[in-house]
Amino acid sequence: MSLSFLPGMMTPELTDLTPEFLMAHGIGLLMMDFDNTIVPYTTDIPTEKMRAWLEAMNASPVKIAIVSNSKNDRLIRFCEAYHLDYIMRAHKPRPKGLLECMQRFGFTQEHSAIVGDQIFTDTLAGNLAGVTPILVKAIDNHTIWLKARHVLELPFIFAARKRRIKL
Ligand SMILES: [Mg+2]
Repeated sequence: MSLSFLPGMMTPELTDLTPEFLMAHGIGLLMMDFDNTIVPYTTDIPTEKMRAWLEAMNASPVKIAIVSNSKNDRLIRFCEAYHLDYIMRAHKPRPKGLLECMQRFGFTQEHSAIVGDQIFTDTLAGNLAGVTPILVKAIDNHTIWLKARHVLELPFIFAARKRRIKL
């Protein structure tokens, strides 16, 4: 558990993560951010690649669940459509939502990871919860505010660039 902005691993897209890769790293629970990690803010429809990945993960031994700060029904509808467990109003970077998720599905910190696009919420929450934070690129930073926030993330991304996953 640490106050760190550095991801443990980095890769461009969520769909890069395979059950084989995760299991080889001892990860049995993959907690996932929603907005800009699975779909952009502007749609509820995943790409065909993302839909197929969610289906393959659901059929694999790795447990996946969404842990999102979202408060709206959009997340619930998505999770029902694609058969996903979720925790909403997680208040990341507070670790509470991640700890609740691990407890719900019976995983310890060393066997859990959080994947998300934001250093100041997802990565920090992962480090505070003592799980492996995996950073992916935001699908679409469509506002000036999202672009500006990404600029603030760049020093940490450069510091962590050696942690890119080699697949
Ligand atoms: Mg996000």
